Amino acid sequence: MNRPGAKYSRAEIVELLRGADDSGLFASARRAREEIYGHEVYLRGIVEFSNICRKRCTYCGLRAPNENVPRYRLTPQDIVRAAAQAPQLGMGTVVLQSGEDLHFDGATVGRLIREIKEKLGLAVTLSLGERTRDELAHWRDCGADRYLLKFETSNPVLHARVRPGESLEKRLACLETLQELGYEAGSGIIVGLPGQTLEDLAGDLLLLARLNLEMLSAGPFLPHPDTPLRQESPGDVPLSLRVMALMRLLSPASNMPATSALEVARPEGRFLGLQAGANVIMPTITPKEVRAGYCIYPGKNAPDDDVRELVETVKRTIVAAGLRPSSALGPSKLVRATSTTPSPSSPSGSLRHV
Ligand code: SAH
Ligand code: SF4
Repeated sequence: MNRPGAKYSRAEIVELLRGADDSGLFASARRAREEIYGHEVYLRGIVEFSNICRKRCTYCGLRAPNENVPRYRLTPQDIVRAAAQAPQLGMGTVVLQSGEDLHFDGATVGRLIREIKEKLGLAVTLSLGERTRDELAHWRDCGADRYLLKFETSNPVLHARVRPGESLEKRLACLETLQELGYEAGSGIIVGLPGQTLEDLAGDLLLLARLNLEMLSAGPFLPHPDTPLRQESPGDVPLSLRVMALMRLLSPASNMPATSALEVARPEGRFLGLQAGANVIMPTITPKEVRAGYCIYPGKNAPDDDVRELVETVKRTIVAAGLRPSSALGPSKLVRATSTTPSPSSPSGSLRHV
């Protein structure tokens, strides 16, 4: 029997990941989502403002050594203009995401956050990779509400292999800093990294549950032709969906997206993600001119699609799953033991955890 918040042993998780009870697992995950979030699915607009990255993650098309990708940086004005589409399209959050691009230093990003909070009143989620404690603290002071930093895999050996020069320990320390600073913190994994086992995934799920995170995410690995992993097989979609359903059951109050990687891996992937317990979708609102350059994996962003049309498609998917698109700021309903202060410039307590 799959119950929200239940304690699962590693062996039980592995069995469920093998597909021992798919229909029961997905039905329980949907029930768990409904108990906490009702029928609402939060929309978040992502602005991918720079594809310049100093890191060398072996799975990612933006890795520094990849010379086949034309690099771009949006100006702060362009970023604010792109973010301004979010409220017009019924989205209460903007996610600012990029490679690890130090050109966007503490002060520059800080000014950007303040401007977006003041002018647009959106919740601001950052996903800028591992940055210093001072930078993260400053951005929080400027009003940033949330931060996404996936640890990708909790197997330290695999982690070091796919993220050369980096370590799981450092990634987790950065997540802890985010929690201390009062961010709504998010993390997650890639499903199907070469060499990853079901036991590894069970370990990932147990660690994610222990970390008490406001946001959780899992998407299938998609091999990129300009990376060292180009010849590897893509991550399995049913397995990714089982991981998501278990995330929902182990951490029922966390926000969890149906990722774009799922949609790229399989048509209707996002719909399936909603069926597996997701309650968030994050369509890209990156300007057309640069969007195709944000190729963390092939097919990530279609160059020609109109942003309004993309968002409409997502809304239709949500309705088809029997759910309701929501323009709310959509904070997590998780109550963390070490309670956090609401961000100074957020509208009076609207992001307080409930
Ligand atoms: N640079 C930041 C944010 C951008 S990358 C960071 O790394 O945190 C955002 C996410 O894209 C990563 O966390 C990773 O999980 C995902 N990603 C990158 N390459 C991928 C691939 N080939 N397949 C699936 N997911 C990928
Ligand atoms: Fe850079 Fe993030 Fe890609 Fe790693 S996953 S290479 S940090 S953009």
